[in-house]
Amino acid sequence: MKITIDTTKCSGHARCAAAAPEMFELDDSGYALPYAGEVPAGHEDDAREGVLACPERAITFE
Ligand code: SF4
Repeated sequence: MKITIDTTKCSGHARCAAAAPEMFELDDSGYALPYAGEVPAGHEDDAREGVLACPERAITFE
């Protein structure tokens, strides 16, 4: 499972990090830090939670 965060769509709602703090990190302004690649083993559910939590659809997974 891979996820990609499109930081150009991120509006800093911080919902991804609230839903899955071990998977998503924010900068000092509350915007998601860039991430693209494999989800670490055991964090698949966290990644899905973050994808569903993002109102901007800035996080995609495949
Ligand atoms: S929930 Fe979406 S818009 Fe909000 S910080 Fe995370 S990636 Fe950005």
